[in-house]
Amino acid sequence: MIPLVDVQSDILGAVAPLESAMVPLRDALGLVTARDIVAGEAVPPFANTAMDGYAVRAGDTAGAAPEAPVRLAVVGELPAGREPTQAVGQGEAIRIMTGAPMPDGADAVVMVEYTERDGDSVRVLHVAQPGDHVRLAGGDLARGALVFTAGTVLGAAHLGVLASLGVHEVQAVRRARVGVLSTGDELVERGELRPGQIRDSNRPMLLALAAEAGADAVDLGVAPDDEAVINRTLEDALASCDVVLTSGGVSVGEYDYVKAALDRLGGLQSWQVAIKPAKPLAFGVIGGTPVFGLPGNPVSSLVSFELFARPALLQMMGHSRRFRPEVGAAAAHPMPRKPDGKLHLDRVWVQAEGGGFVAARTGAQASNVLSAAAAANGLALLPDGDGVPEGGEVRVMRLDWPADH
Ligand code: AMP
Ligand code: MG
Repeated sequence: MIPLVDVQSDILGAVAPLESAMVPLRDALGLVTARDIVAGEAVPPFANTAMDGYAVRAGDTAGAAPEAPVRLAVVGELPAGREPTQAVGQGEAIRIMTGAPMPDGADAVVMVEYTERDGDSVRVLHVAQPGDHVRLAGGDLARGALVFTAGTVLGAAHLGVLASLGVHEVQAVRRARVGVLSTGDELVERGELRPGQIRDSNRPMLLALAAEAGADAVDLGVAPDDEAVINRTLEDALASCDVVLTSGGVSVGEYDYVKAALDRLGGLQSWQVAIKPAKPLAFGVIGGTPVFGLPGNPVSSLVSFELFARPALLQMMGHSRRFRPEVGAAAAHPMPRKPDGKLHLDRVWVQAEGGGFVAARTGAQASNVLSAAAAANGLALLPDGDGVPEGGEVRVMRLDWPADH
């Protein structure tokens, strides 16, 4: 058996990054910028008010207090979106709404709450300082400022920032096209189950996992345990995809043809990883396309995707952080295990409690019990040994947090 980290570094050493492309903002969520982005215009584009109130000359409000209000003549009104046509002169004010441009002459805004309107004039009840509630032009981003460096993962706020700059498309590393194939004579998708048949759960799951990682997932269907069909399907997939994920057929059974096919296509590596679940893994880069032969048991398939395929996909799509964050948690109950030379990855729910985290198993830990994985938001990493007592410290990989290293 080979340690987990060795297999992970072998895989990441073998996958190359994809090229970049111009991507419209609405398709860019989660992608990684391929170039530095410089502000072509200032944000905000003009000085404006952060508050509803009165644009004034701060000096005019000297001495203003509730018991000694200063009276100013209201000479106009400025809603957001309107261009000022009139300056604020001495002893004057303009009624102004949040986001409206500061009129010439004014250097401060008095919040409406600190005023009392009286016909054509306003009583100011507090002193204003120059700059009060004024948002300066370029105060968020100056024209020419470096906005995002190459390698930035575009989140929702990043897309908002780009939109604020009038940027509608961005040079980003493109999404990987990930083909997903299930293998096994026992698998069916719909209809009545005949004796010996089960439903294909891995394909919908792996398609969703690939999509969640930001890839374009391509459904390659189910292949029977037939060497010729598997060979043909894999060859087609290699021609049209950037990555291929298969499940099943990589253990040591009589009908495990995926391994044989990858071997024949060249570049196969087959590992017994020192982990439970997800011990068997076949991997190869065939004509530049990484192929992951994930194990068939659904929980193993999920864990194998998380540990091997997801970091590789993220790396291909330009991410420098490829691994899920880990937190230290207290075991909510004893988490026994038997020494077997493997790292165990138990499906748990982890949550904040009393300044730390607490983790509890979400169900049976057999590699076919996918319902317990569905209920989990973490994998408890139990090193080789006898497990952890109740209250003992356990490291948990957060399946619900993106990546921090
Ligand atoms: P294999 O690796 O092909 O020997 O499969 C190991 C176990 O996983 C067997 O019990 C299979 O029936 C099951 N299995 C394989 N592929 C799938 C799948 N796509 N969906 C659900 N179970 C599967
Ligand atoms: Mg099989």
